[in-house]
Amino acid sequence: MKAAVLAAQDRARAGEIEPVAVADAAVAALPAGMRAVLNATGVVLHTNLGRAALSPAAVGAVVRAAGHTDVELDLRTGKRARRGRDVLAALAAAVPDAGAVHVVNNGAAALVLAATALAAGREIIVSRGEMVEIGDGFRLPDLLASTGARLREVGTTNRTSVVDYANAVGPETGFILKVHPSNFVIRGFTLSTDISEMSGLGVPVVADIGSGLLRPDPLLPDEPDAATTLRAGADLVIASGDKLLGGPQSGLLLGDAALVERLRRHPLARALRVDKLTLAALHATVAGPPTPTWEALRADAGELRERTEQLRARLGLGEVVAATAVVGGGGAPELELPSWALALPAGWAAPLREGDPPVVGRVERGRLLLDLRCVPPSADAGLIEAINAAARAAQEPQEQHAEGPTCSS
Ligand SMILES: *Cc1c(COP(=O)(O)O)cnc(C)c1O
Repeated sequence: MKAAVLAAQDRARAGEIEPVAVADAAVAALPAGMRAVLNATGVVLHTNLGRAALSPAAVGAVVRAAGHTDVELDLRTGKRARRGRDVLAALAAAVPDAGAVHVVNNGAAALVLAATALAAGREIIVSRGEMVEIGDGFRLPDLLASTGARLREVGTTNRTSVVDYANAVGPETGFILKVHPSNFVIRGFTLSTDISEMSGLGVPVVADIGSGLLRPDPLLPDEPDAATTLRAGADLVIASGDKLLGGPQSGLLLGDAALVERLRRHPLARALRVDKLTLAALHATVAGPPTPTWEALRADAGELRERTEQLRARLGLGEVVAATAVVGGGGAPELELPSWALALPAGWAAPLREGDPPVVGRVERGRLLLDLRCVPPSADAGLIEAINAAARAAQEPQEQHAEGPTCSS
């Protein structure tokens, strides 16, 4: 395996191949690691598949940043510079209502930093209707309590009024936390308090909006965004970078300059710091062209149907059926995106998952559905090859494949 890399290095030195081919040879020689997967689930932000796919611009930025970079150096003066200053400037430009911005490792880290810096040993006031489980067994109340802050629960599961918050505010209050219930909805006899009402209570209001929309998106009317939330009076907005924003895993903190500075200067901030690759990808996401997430959410159903018909014609197998795609990743749980899928026998799910490239679809009513919404058209040829291989495998006398659920969001 080393020999292949050395041979490629020799050929590159001799000018026979491009240096990038050496990198390819090195990667090919590695023991199997994370694999690139075709997401045919119709779940745009699939947590098990790494949530948002980065834009080509963000991928390019990551590659450029992989070597030595000016991440903390001002090339003009030769002096130390603010780490990630280009990302912070891009976020500030995108959300002018934010006095300052800070970036940490993920949304949970942003919550932990805010709770530690602003409420350790004191109280965080939160509605009983917003005690959310994020996923994989992680619960917001536990996360906050782990910082040494005390949770002061107010209201009930379905109704929390501004009076409930007002009655709980006191000398022990660190801040009021408003959490967007991003992966469920409460309907019926409900009452929740607007940020604008909370902001008059004399203590900081921290809003965890979850999904990372910087501005309102007409396609997602029920998803809060940073600009509107700040304008309503939130002092600090917390969001994830790899959900609807479509960027790398990261946690955004936007808002009051003095509060953000306190977070940035807290010793814990260093432990939650993001690396240069994340900063590069986030900058290209915020300042660059539309992301694959944005495009997948807006993919035209008619065009998807046509592409799926073409795929079926080229394969000579399967059936084109109407399907429903979703946002996933704990966002916009009620939004259904009309879509189309190629229906195949459910038994092909396992060989496709283990194929090359691995294709992950979704099994519904005894059929495997492949939804092209999140598969880039440039991957269609690979998809056809993978399906043909699965078809051949299905005809051979069975060597047993591992059973298991095809996917869960
Ligand atoms: C997703 C989410 C989180 C956690 O963010 P991560 O980036 O996954 O750590 C926290 N709060 C809300 C409301 C969320 O939707």
